[in-house]
Amino acid sequence: MGESSFDVFCPKCNILVEARVIAEGHGGFRSNAINPIDEVDTDYHGDLYFVCLCRRCSQPFLIRQSLYGIPGEFESITDESVLYPTESKLIQETLPKSVKIAYDQAARSFNASLFEPCVLMCRKCLEAVCKTLGAQGRDLSKRLVSLSEAGHIDSRLLSWAHEIRLVGNEAAHEMEVPVTQEDARDILDFTEAILIYVFSLTNRFDSFKARRTKSDTEEGGMP
Ligand SMILES: [Zn+2]
Repeated sequence: MGESSFDVFCPKCNILVEARVIAEGHGGFRSNAINPIDEVDTDYHGDLYFVCLCRRCSQPFLIRQSLYGIPGEFESITDESVLYPTESKLIQETLPKSVKIAYDQAARSFNASLFEPCVLMCRKCLEAVCKTLGAQGRDLSKRLVSLSEAGHIDSRLLSWAHEIRLVGNEAAHEMEVPVTQEDARDILDFTEAILIYVFSLTNRFDSFKARRTKSDTEEGGMP
């Protein structure tokens, strides 16, 4: 407790800013303790929430700080995430490492106004997706088609993927035509959409199905 400000990326200012805390509160604590007496020395997890405002433009932020500790011994911050404004539905944990690295670099390049590196990394991200999913073909274009044939992406995502590939190629070879901020933003968003579809939502759908099957079995066992 007691944070007075956070350093966050402000989407309005398009830079890293200091956001001033204007309100904070507990999100409750979870512990494995069986009864309140045990809680004294059982480890716990908890969340704190902070409402902050950008010092430059007053853009609001909601930040969650996750804590882990043992009462009277220690408490440490295990995670800090910006819940609002939401960057995306992309769940980073669901991404294979090579894909995540390329995507992170693309997003960071964009935030630093490096639009050519941004689209180059988006293209690299697609290369990593193809590799992870075992796509076949001697160039990226053919590998993307094979992803579609294997059912990993549908025809709309395939056409987005081809655009990302083409803009990435242009950025690599054309000296005269600079990549605009608008184009880089679109390419980054299309890349993100493909990753959400191929990894985050697929992963979530699998656990949804597993949960449904499990509850069906449990209900089936009831008299
Ligand atoms: Zn701002």
